[in-house]
Amino acid sequence: MTGKIIIFSAPSGSGKTTIVHHLLKAMPELAFSVSATSRKPRKNEKQGVDYYFLTPEDFKKRVLEGAFLEWEEVYDGQFYGTLRSEVEQLRMKGKHIVFDIDVKGGMNLKKEFGDDALAIFVKSPGLDVMEERLRKRGTDSGNQLKKRISKAVSEISYADQFDRILVNEDLQDSLKKAENLVKEFINFTS
Ligand code: 5GP
Repeated sequence: MTGKIIIFSAPSGSGKTTIVHHLLKAMPELAFSVSATSRKPRKNEKQGVDYYFLTPEDFKKRVLEGAFLEWEEVYDGQFYGTLRSEVEQLRMKGKHIVFDIDVKGGMNLKKEFGDDALAIFVKSPGLDVMEERLRKRGTDSGNQLKKRISKAVSEISYADQFDRILVNEDLQDSLKKAENLVKEFINFTS
């Protein structure tokens, strides 16, 4: 049996990463697809766990080598991508793979994997809430915050192209809903 593909996409600040972390803890049959990025690690982020942190030069080299299943310049000068090798090795282990990925990347993976993939768009109840979450996280400078918010505005228009939309109003409720969506998908399609 090959593993299924479970994609979580959302504008940054919607709470998607919290949902993904919860699922990975709650469901041992899932594994996280560690992306590569050219951005610098934040405090507490570990090489090979949160991301494969590459220099911009290395990232571009890997692009030319065809190492990525998809990649995006998510923010100016900051590249993110899914390595083919990462997906292949997790699928070979029979794991269902969870992706935390931007909206364009999510749509590309859905196209690639079709019915083997469940694409979930996590929607924050409002931009104010999103801004508040990003501020509380406190990891972005004012300028970066503005970039993330303006990107969020354009990304929301793609929500309809996803299989499911999860409106993250109440976190506990969203965690349960996400778990149910994923379980239903895995059981239905296995
Ligand atoms: P952050 O810098 O906050 O970790 O991530 C910024 C954005 O990049 C998030 O929306 C995250 O989901 C997205 N992202 C992470 N990995 C990938 C990837 O492999 N491909 C794409 N297209 N986006 C990614």
